Amino acid sequence: MINFTVGPVQSNETVLEIGSRQTPYFRTSEFSEIMLENERLMLEFTKAGKNSRTIFLTGSGTAAMEATVMNVFDKNDKVLVINGGSFGQRFVDLCRIHTLNYTEIKLDFGQELYAKDLKKFEKAGYTGLLVNIHETSTGMHYNMDLLSNFCVRNNIFFVVDAVSSFIADPIDIKNSKIDVMITGSQKALACPPGISVIVLSERAVDKVNLQSVESLYFDLKDALKQAEHGQTPFTPAVSILLQINARLKEIKSNGGIETETNKIIKIAEDFRSKIKDLPFTIFSSSMSNAVTPLAPKNASAHDIFVTLKDEYGIWICPNGGELKDKIFRVGHIGALTKEDNTKLIDALKDMNLRGIL
Ligand SMILES: *Cc1c(COP(=O)(O)O)cnc(C)c1O
Repeated sequence: MINFTVGPVQSNETVLEIGSRQTPYFRTSEFSEIMLENERLMLEFTKAGKNSRTIFLTGSGTAAMEATVMNVFDKNDKVLVINGGSFGQRFVDLCRIHTLNYTEIKLDFGQELYAKDLKKFEKAGYTGLLVNIHETSTGMHYNMDLLSNFCVRNNIFFVVDAVSSFIADPIDIKNSKIDVMITGSQKALACPPGISVIVLSERAVDKVNLQSVESLYFDLKDALKQAEHGQTPFTPAVSILLQINARLKEIKSNGGIETETNKIIKIAEDFRSKIKDLPFTIFSSSMSNAVTPLAPKNASAHDIFVTLKDEYGIWICPNGGELKDKIFRVGHIGALTKEDNTKLIDALKDMNLRGIL
């Protein structure tokens, strides 16, 4: 199978080899060194400011979303949530479950966010904003500067879910005044699922340390303390942390985060130029480099997903709910090459000749 989904994605040989080894014991100085290096490299690659910290949480990306909601907001906050798809909806659900005072900015699927959408929330007492900067379900990549300026102007605590965007799109935590950035192991980090990563600004660290959280596993205070010497409160997904370490070091030695982002940009551009003559329209007006959302002109998106899987050995990313038959997505993250793109395009051309596109 060739995997063009948005996660889990294909890992490279180095990462695969680590996954085939025995899981080592982790309460050791050797493992602590690896974890401290993971933290340093995450802070470097996200351009985090002074005294920022990183937590590696065992759980999928949603675990980090939930832990963030629980550890940085409480009943005194007034939170805005950008909801333009299923990941925005997830933040809404988390705010509801944790009984926060929140307001949803609901956008249609694939709709961009403009200054006019934020206007009525200026100087209205909001203290926090949650956004999935790349709403992976529709492929919409929101305008970071617009959101960042709004948060700075209103002194709003800025939480960015960059689970599918980190590495694929440039991010600068310090410059964009981001307080919390979330990502996960199975997207552009291209490791197996199981670890989510939370990068906290200095002010976010202070907030976490003062917060009282009704949870044992999701209380991040102890995680912060233990991470000072490269450890975690509970048994982490040790092998995945070793795989993440290999990936981060490889990115560093290949020229840094910009080089890795450029690789993804090249794969995305190559695919987007090759798809032009086929009967699809690109669904989004503002795309992440991580994925291309496509609307077939004459066929069901879900049928295309099934045919590619069953007859061509290719996974693309299907959509659920209302978009099930309308759009599918082609990912550009993970160990993919231009040759892989050509194989997918050839499969689609063949389906077109067969009259099923
Ligand atoms: C993948 C993803 C997540 C995390 O989903 P999990 O299935 O919990 O790993 C969160 N937010 C966005 C934007 C994502 O793309």
